[in-house]
Amino acid sequence: MTRVTEEEGCVLRECVFCEIVSGELPADHVYEDDHTVAFMDINPATFGHLLVVPRTHVADVISAEPHDWLAVADTARRMAVWVAGGLKAHGVDLLQCNTDGTVGHQTVFHLHLHVLPRYEQDQLGAWWTQETTDPSEVTEAARQLVDYGRRAERR
Ligand code: 5GP
Ligand code: ZN
Repeated sequence: MTRVTEEEGCVLRECVFCEIVSGELPADHVYEDDHTVAFMDINPATFGHLLVVPRTHVADVISAEPHDWLAVADTARRMAVWVAGGLKAHGVDLLQCNTDGTVGHQTVFHLHLHVLPRYEQDQLGAWWTQETTDPSEVTEAARQLVDYGRRAERR
């Protein structure tokens, strides 16, 4: 995958989420701590849809340091509690998109985790339809992953 590097993100200076973190761009802020900021999505998919971002610019989960990711995950967990309690959502889905530019649906290249309150009859529905497949395909995918993991983590 071709990744958008941290330098590219900063040099291009087109990172709206860096601008929101710094306060240059307004947003409806909900929560912040030393490592993360949570603010409302400008085009919400459901009532209360918000985003959690690290203060530090990092393009996506693949290029994130574990501590950035853990900080985002921790704040998202807190926001899930808030939307379940504060908005009376019946469910909360956490979504995080990454792409090399060909498939996937990441549009802003500053790591962010969507916190999506879910309600009966909301427009989102299920994220995918369950499909049955040849079990050997599932096993083959597992084999490729384990093979890659062993090689990658040996480096
Ligand atoms: P992605 O498609 O990268 O997973 O999600 C990017 C999200 O950022 C979208 O849901 C979009 O509505 C939101 N977004 C894009 N620009 C802005 C902005 O300037 N302010 C806020 N609050 N949200 C934004
Ligand atoms: Zn950024």
